[in-house]
Amino acid sequence: MRIRLILASAVLALLSACASQPTPTTAVLAPESAQAIVAASDNKLDATLWMQQSAEYEAAMLGSFALARQQLDLALADPDWDAMPAGERKVAARGLPPALITDADETLLDNSPFQARSIQAGSPDFNYAAWLSWVSERRARALPGALAFYRYAAEQGVTVYYVTNRDDPAERAATVDNLRALGFPVADDGSNVMLRNDPRAPSREKGERRTWVSERHRVLLMLGDNLGDFIDGIAVSPLARHTLVERNRMRWGKQWIMLPNPAYGSWESAILRDCGELAKTESNRCKRNALRLQ
Ligand SMILES: [Mg+2]
Repeated sequence: MRIRLILASAVLALLSACASQPTPTTAVLAPESAQAIVAASDNKLDATLWMQQSAEYEAAMLGSFALARQQLDLALADPDWDAMPAGERKVAARGLPPALITDADETLLDNSPFQARSIQAGSPDFNYAAWLSWVSERRARALPGALAFYRYAAEQGVTVYYVTNRDDPAERAATVDNLRALGFPVADDGSNVMLRNDPRAPSREKGERRTWVSERHRVLLMLGDNLGDFIDGIAVSPLARHTLVERNRMRWGKQWIMLPNPAYGSWESAILRDCGELAKTESNRCKRNALRLQ
């Protein structure tokens, strides 16, 4: 979600002359700006509908968590199995109690109603006040297959660490409550929920939190919907991001499970970053320019 905040800052910069409130609406915009923002919101329409309505998304999620369960069983049986990325483990894994590291949003929590509301409102891509309001409702549902998988992992004695870039402390209580109410395994003290700015490992990227977990656990699996859920240093060009994926080719589908998210993520900010200044005013043109035609 934080990634979209960065994207949104470009849109909000566009609005700054005419809107100081954190919830800008098209009504306060010059017509041409409003048109651009409605178009940007509509970019999310197909992706959000696909995630909410399509049988294909449900099937993809169920398949991913079925694979995760198979791999978890293999990992439990192999004392040398460790899913930590190169360079992040500082302590030998063998003999440590097992854990898995998972992202939350669009990995196991469904925030598509937040997307849907933004589209219906014709709002810019991301607004932190609106996001915080949604989080505070504690009404995100579990994504297909997620609850059964994480409960299974906990039943096998695997500690589930939720490493999410929701903000600590602003989003901590609501996130813990939401996860707990859905039935996800959450420690009584909430210590297995690690948000951004967690005092134990406060870096913005997730690597420091992964290292913190790996100092105490053998890490069996990692799950996420964003490259940053697996490795740091992902704010680079789209081409460089592909190189990072290739460099870790043997991890995917084995120790690292990537869930689909066409609605938002660092993939989008990489395209816009590559586009330079134009991205601040004409993000759709940037995206059209990035299309591959053969
Ligand atoms: Mg996510």
